[in-house]
Amino acid sequence: MKRQKIIAGNWKMYKTAKEAVHFIQQLQKLIPSSKARILLAVPFTALTAAAEAAHTTSFAIGAQNVHEAVEGPYTGEISAHMLKEAGAKFTLIGHSERRRLFHESNLLIHQKIKRALSSGLTPILCVGETLVERSDGATEAVLAEQLEEGLGELSLDQLAHLVIAYEPVWAIGTGKSASPQVADEAHLLCRNFIAKKWGSAAAEQLPILYGGSVKAENAAELLNQPNVDGALVGGASLDPAAFAQIIQSVG
Ligand code: PEP
Repeated sequence: MKRQKIIAGNWKMYKTAKEAVHFIQQLQKLIPSSKARILLAVPFTALTAAAEAAHTTSFAIGAQNVHEAVEGPYTGEISAHMLKEAGAKFTLIGHSERRRLFHESNLLIHQKIKRALSSGLTPILCVGETLVERSDGATEAVLAEQLEEGLGELSLDQLAHLVIAYEPVWAIGTGKSASPQVADEAHLLCRNFIAKKWGSAAAEQLPILYGGSVKAENAAELLNQPNVDGALVGGASLDPAAFAQIIQSVG
């Protein structure tokens, strides 16, 4: 089965609602149609405006984080239900910046994945090793632990609504992307992990995106790898022209 490519932008803490609308209008002009599924993970405050602006496009709008509880006394947090109502179709979960700066554990990430799924949001689970872990030869063990604890005992049906993003921490925001071979090897490790636990059919249909300094110059080669089903793009997703070039590199 051929998996459709996905190009997702992660805007992090950039762009107001107004700026988001402007970006979407620009991107639509540049990309009136595409073979790839195009996703934009925008700040919470831009969700409603972005979802409205994207209504007449094929772009899906999503969030960058979600709280694990249905609702409650969690000052400053946002629930899955709120995201849905604001127009989100998906949410990033366990981005390395959230793991590192906000101390998110695999177990918390698992709770968030279950909450997103039960609310009808597609979770994009981010996994990836640090440079020290890679130099210690621990990449496979780190990915296995993040996947084992992050996914827990999800059902096959739940797994069918999930996307994984392999994002080596050393490649995020550094300008140093993984080589296409290194990326493909890591994606294969993830896919094999899924196959072992949920079977090869589930592993075959699971989209695994690569993230870490993807730009127009390296996108095509990365996206050509057999196990790379798309890209999660940070910095280069902030500029419509740069992001459009990455989308256009989907063959
Ligand atoms: C990211 O933040 O998910 C990311 C991949 O960032 P960048 O593309 O800037 O490395």
